[in-house]
Formats: sequence, structure tokens, C-alpha cells
Amino acid sequence: MSDVEITTYPGLDPRVSIVRLGETVDAVFVRTARFNVLVDTLDTPDACRQALALLEGPVRDRPLVVVNSHMDWDHFWGNVAVGDRAVIIAHETALQRYRAPSVREVLREKAAEEERYRSVELLAPSVTFSGSMCLDGGDLTLELLHTPGHTPDHVAVWIPELKTCLAVDAVEDPIPEVWSDDPKHLRALLASLSMIQGLGAEHVVLAHGQTSSPAIVAKNLAYFSELMRRAKAVDWGAHASDDLPLPAGLGLFDVTAEPPGFPPEMRAFYDAFHRTNLRAVVRTLREGGAARG
Ligand SMILES: [Zn+2]
Repeated sequence: MSDVEITTYPGLDPRVSIVRLGETVDAVFVRTARFNVLVDTLDTPDACRQALALLEGPVRDRPLVVVNSHMDWDHFWGNVAVGDRAVIIAHETALQRYRAPSVREVLREKAAEEERYRSVELLAPSVTFSGSMCLDGGDLTLELLHTPGHTPDHVAVWIPELKTCLAVDAVEDPIPEVWSDDPKHLRALLASLSMIQGLGAEHVVLAHGQTSSPAIVAKNLAYFSELMRRAKAVDWGAHASDDLPLPAGLGLFDVTAEPPGFPPEMRAFYDAFHRTNLRAVVRTLREGGAARG
């Protein structure tokens, strides 16, 4: 059984609720005058049903619209729980990702490891858009912004009336992970971070790391420029990009600050993100480009 709770952050508008699945992932529930919006469906239909039960009163009294931020397992595997009562909106590139064999491979792997994933049935988004999309809730507007880089299909949500950005995985503490070492994905991630930075948000709600501090956006941008600066000073020789050494001064927490209370068991996870980012930076340097957004 998973542990879902409804929580919030200091100063966050009461119409926005954080739907927290332990340390795994946060989804977000937004109540507008005309409809409710659930941004992401957690990692299983069971977890999503638990969330809906906790939101029971508010969720029933007006239509429900669901947004999938991107097709990573921890954000959309709960779709079946809402498929009979809500449209599920995602960026058009989400469908390509949904159809990729890797989605089923990840499900097979996770189901082999953990009982709770054995009952997961996948469900694709039902409405897609390109560019951006606007949900007019009457009192609140939800602007769905294509923010690729972490994944090609990533969408963040901007609520201008509340100066609140649901950045999901485009921003992460300590660091977000780029999709691949292809320089175009690094450029996309930096452009997405800059776009989010430019919103002037007072709350930047992340899906991992349990923070809504807008300072994390600047911290992520500073991490990439410092990584680029330090990587430039290294002679990478003929190392293949999947086998780069990590010279002194290029460790994860040499390049960015360790978050307060950072759990040691998460270190290997974010070290892997850091290695992916470094490979993208080195390939960008080799191809003679600046990784500017
Ligand atoms: Zn995620």
C-alpha cells in the first residue's frame, strides 16, 4: 500500500494542493471556479485512486481535467484511475514516447522488482497540443508550457494569477537531468529553465525534492554554467562520452550546493543525473557550441 497525503507549502494559495506520494513524487491538484485540474497521476492507478479519495469532496463537485506533465513512469502510470471521468491532456510528443517500447520495458522491470507495479495498466493521454495551451478556469488560468530538455514531451504549468509555476521535473533540487548527450537536448533544457526563470514566479513547485523555492531555478542554471566552465578547462582527450572520467572539482557537489538534509541514499541517483549532464556538456564543447538557452 502506498502512502498518499495532501499537503501544501507556506504561502501557497489554498486552491493549489500538493498530492504527495512519500518520497517518490508529488502531483498537484488545482481547484478553479469552473473545473478541477490534476497535474500528474502518480505511479500507479491505486496511488491515484487514494489521492482522489482524499480529495473526494472537492473532486466531485465540478469537472476534472487531468494533465500529464510527461511520460515518465512516476508521473502518468496512474492514468487508468481517471480515464473514465476526465480528459487527459499532454504535449503531442508524449504520444510518441507513450508508443515507444521503452515504456513497456520499464513497466516490466519495475513489476519484476515490486508487487505494486504488477497491476498497472497503461493509458495514453486523450487530448494533445503543440506549442502551448491555456485552461481558463474563470478565477485562475493554467498555461501549459512545453518545456523540453528533461524529456522531449515535458510540460510545466504556469498560473499567472498566483505567480505559481508547477515546474514538475524541468527544475530539480539538486539538479535536473537532461534527456540525452545530444547538445540539442541540453540547449532545450537550458531554454526551458530560462523560460521558467523569466516568469518571475513566487512559487516554483517541483515534483521531487519537496520544495517550492523559486531560488532552485537560478541554482539549476548556475549549475549548468559552472559545469560548462569547469568542463572547458579539462582536456577530455579521446574518452568515449559514455566513459568520461570525473576529474577533481567536477563531482556533483563540487559544482552545485548539496541541498539541506539531502538523503545520502539519493546520492547515487543524482550522481547518475550529473554524469548524463556532463556527457551532454562535453559533447556540446566538442561540437564547438555554447550551451546557452
Ligand atoms: Zn519525475
